[in-house]
Amino acid sequence: MKAIRVHQFGGPEVLKLEDVPTPKPSAGEVLVRIHAAGVNPYDTYMRAGTYAVKPALPYTPGSDGAGVVEAVGEGVTKVKSGDRVYTARTVSGAYAEYALALAEQVHPLPANIDFKQGAGIWVPYGTAYHALYHSAKAHASETVLIHGASGGVGTAAVQIARAMGLMVLGTAGTSQGLDLAKREGAHQVFDHRKSGYQEEILRATDNRGLDIILEMLANVNLAHDTKLLANNGRVIVIGSRGEVTINPRELMGRRASIRALVLWSITPEEEADIHAGIFAGLENGTLRPVVGKELPIAEAARAHKEILEAGSTGKIVLVC
Ligand code: NAP
Repeated sequence: MKAIRVHQFGGPEVLKLEDVPTPKPSAGEVLVRIHAAGVNPYDTYMRAGTYAVKPALPYTPGSDGAGVVEAVGEGVTKVKSGDRVYTARTVSGAYAEYALALAEQVHPLPANIDFKQGAGIWVPYGTAYHALYHSAKAHASETVLIHGASGGVGTAAVQIARAMGLMVLGTAGTSQGLDLAKREGAHQVFDHRKSGYQEEILRATDNRGLDIILEMLANVNLAHDTKLLANNGRVIVIGSRGEVTINPRELMGRRASIRALVLWSITPEEEADIHAGIFAGLENGTLRPVVGKELPIAEAARAHKEILEAGSTGKIVLVC
């Protein structure tokens, strides 16, 4: 089978398309014929060797794939050959024609969701769901700012928050991104490249402030976020690419808090909750993964370069 292999940590050019043996599922494992694989920012940090988790080399990247079950190992009853599934982590890597996953890592893909959309489910929707339900404990009566609403996590968060009944404000850095956030359910959108946009956001809340901020770039925004919060407001840090200095007094007066999360540290109970919520939302049409760009698997290096560039419009997926 064809698979992307990384033999050494480095730039996008270390992603090589190779012929490797198709794996066979052992007991408790599932072999999935991957039709599309989602590209996430963390894939690039891992490939560069700068991520907290360093895989043993060589490895095939990718936790998010969608396809059809090819075969199952001994003892697997959850899925059978021919079932449509998405993966939430894999054993052998999703940037490949076939991927091994543990039975608990495969989940049914509703009939109304195609494979490219299925490749954009786990990390984006899992993170957005976890941020809103488990970390922020969001309520329908609240106002949320999705700071970075045009990317994978952001579009998922807009759809989930809107379905939960919140007032949804979103930011993006291009007109396409702003249109996308609006189309997916944001009540109002703001350009995070425009100077003074934070004041516009505050005015949009009648100067009351935000109950929740989902933050995709904390190293740039966190200090200012604390000034945009309402009483008992909370910032949920999802993404950060560096250090930042904040003034704790901004939090004290508002009884506000900053929480952070990483999807890999959720509990099994939270994960079960997330998959149940995602399945229901996909099936009833409130969750609709947005594929902004599809590239052949051979162009994984280009996908890794482009995902870190400004101008997101949903997910980048690799077609296998
Ligand atoms: P993505 O698809 O590449 O989207 C990036 C988003 O950040 C876009 O909406 C982009 O907007 C926005 N952005 C750019 N500059 C910004 C600024 N100054 N202020 C606010 N937003 C800005 O990435 P993603 O998959 O959505 O992930 C977003 C971040 O969360 C990444 O850093 C990722 O590593 C992290 N993440 C963390 C977890 C976790 O477990 N903690 C899970 C998933 C993702 P424009 O392109 O329109 O400017």
